[in-house]
Amino acid sequence: MEHVLLYDTTLRDGLQREGMSLSVDEQIAIAKEIAAFGMHYLEAGFPMSNPKHAEMFEALRDVDLGDTRIAAFGMTRRKGVAAAADPAMVGLAECFAPVITIVGKTWDLHIEKVIKVDRGENLAMIAESVAYLKGRGKEVIYDAEHFFDAYAAHPDYAVECLRAAHEAGADWVTLCDTNGATLPHQVAAATRHVREALPDANIGIHTHNDAECGVANSLASVTEGARMVQGTVNGYGERCGNANLVSIVPSLSLKLGFATVPEENLAHLTALSHFVAETANLQPDNWAAYVGRNAFAHKGGMHVAGMLADERTFEHINPAAVGNERRVLVSELSGRGTIVAKAREMGLEIEDGPEVPRILTRLKELEHEGYHFEVADASFELLIERELGRFEPLFALESFRVVTEKRADGQVETEATVKLTHDGERLVAIGEGNGPVNALDQALRAALEVRVPELADVQLVNFKVRILDEGKGTGATTRVLIDSGAAQGAETWGAIGVSQNVIEASWDALVDSLVYGVARVRRGAGVGAAGR
Ligand SMILES: [Zn+2]
Repeated sequence: MEHVLLYDTTLRDGLQREGMSLSVDEQIAIAKEIAAFGMHYLEAGFPMSNPKHAEMFEALRDVDLGDTRIAAFGMTRRKGVAAAADPAMVGLAECFAPVITIVGKTWDLHIEKVIKVDRGENLAMIAESVAYLKGRGKEVIYDAEHFFDAYAAHPDYAVECLRAAHEAGADWVTLCDTNGATLPHQVAAATRHVREALPDANIGIHTHNDAECGVANSLASVTEGARMVQGTVNGYGERCGNANLVSIVPSLSLKLGFATVPEENLAHLTALSHFVAETANLQPDNWAAYVGRNAFAHKGGMHVAGMLADERTFEHINPAAVGNERRVLVSELSGRGTIVAKAREMGLEIEDGPEVPRILTRLKELEHEGYHFEVADASFELLIERELGRFEPLFALESFRVVTEKRADGQVETEATVKLTHDGERLVAIGEGNGPVNALDQALRAALEVRVPELADVQLVNFKVRILDEGKGTGATTRVLIDSGAAQGAETWGAIGVSQNVIEASWDALVDSLVYGVARVRRGAGVGAAGR
C-alpha cells in the first residue's frame, strides 16, 4: 500500500480561525492528541514570532510526541540578504524542530506588488533558503504560496519556483491553494503537470475551503501524485477554513486504499475531532462527515428496514471504523462494552452486569440535556460512581447564595454564602471573588478547608461557558466546563454542569471538580485517576 503522509497545521493555520483562541496548555493537549492519532507532522508555528507562539513552541520541546515530527514554520530569506545573514533563517536553523516548512512566493501579483523583487531574485530567495536549511541538517518542506493562482497566470514560472526548491534539496514541494479559489479539476491538472515536470520531487498539497473544495482538492491532488496532505482537525482555519483532515484521512484510507494512520488509530477519529472542538470551546458539528453525531443516524421505516437487512444499504462505511456509531440501532443493550471499557480505562472495577444499562440510560438522558463527557472525564467518572452506589459525597448542601453588587464607581463585587453539612456538622461560610464561580469556590474552601485539607491540592485552571440552545434568548441552557489541576504536577481533569441558570451550572461543575480532585489526592494522586 502506498503511503500518504499527514501534515497537521491546526496549531498554526488552524489558529487563524476567527474567534479561536487556545492557551499554551490547551495547545499542548491538542498536540498530544494529534500525535497519538498518528499524524506524521505537526506544525507548531513560528519559533520566534509573537510571544505566545514562541512559548508554545518552546513548551513542545519537552513533550513526547512519539513518531510525529515537529515542524517549525517560516518564510524564505529576505530579499538582498544571504540566508545565513538573515536572523529569521538562522532562528529556524537553530530551533529544535527537525522539520522546517518555509513558504515563498510564486505568483507575479505578489512578487511584483508585495515583496517587490524581480523573478530571478525570487528564485534565488527560494533556492538559497532551502539550501541553507538543508545545510543545517533539517528536513525541508517548501510551501509554494498561491501556487494555483500563479499556475493559472503563468504556469512555466510557477513550476520554475518549485524546481528551484527541489533542486536546492527540498524534501517536499507543496502546492498551496492559499486563496482557496481553485476547483478539483484544476488542482488535478496542475498536480499532474508538476509530477511530469519534476518526476522525482515529493509533492504535497495545502488547500483552503473558500469554494468548499478543500477536501475535494486535496483528494484530487493525491490521485495525481501528491503524497503529503496538509490540513487541520475539523478544517479550522481562517475565512472558510483549511482542508479538513478529519474527512481526508478516512477517504484516503477507506476509499482510495492509501496507508495513512494505523487502522486502530482511525477508530479514534471521532474522539480526536470532538476533543479538539471541545478544547477550543467550539460546538462539534453534528452534521460533519464521518464524525458528526448524525453522520450515521438513520430515521424512517424504509431506512431502518434496509439497515436491519444489511448495513451497506444505507451506510457508506462502517461507522466503527472512524469511531462513530450508528444511531438507529442504539438500544439499551448497545454501548455496554464502551461503558465497561471506559470505566476500566479509568481504573474503576465494573462488571458487565445489570447496572451497565442503567449507566447507559442515564448517560443518554444527560447527553440529551446537553452534557458532553469528552472533556469532562471527572464528571463521567463521578456519574459511574453515583450509578454504582459507590459515590461518597464530600458534603451535603443545604443552600448557597450568590450576590453580585455593581457600584456607582464601576466596581463589581461578588459574595457567596454556602451552608452545608459535613460529618454531621453544619458549616456556614462566606467567600468573595471577582465573579460567582470564584466566590463560590472561595466559600466552599472556607467552609471545608480544616476538615478537608486535600482541597489545598486542587486548583481551578480554566472555566468555559457555552450557550446550548441559542434560539431561546435569556432562557437558554448554559453549559459550563471547568478544568482543574493538581497544585503540584501537570495532570488536569474536566468537570461539567448544565442548567438554564449559569450559576447552578457553574456550581455543579465546581463541585464535581473539587470532589474528584479530593478523591484523587486521597487515593494517591493519579492511581486510577481520569486525568489526561
Ligand atoms: Zn494556509
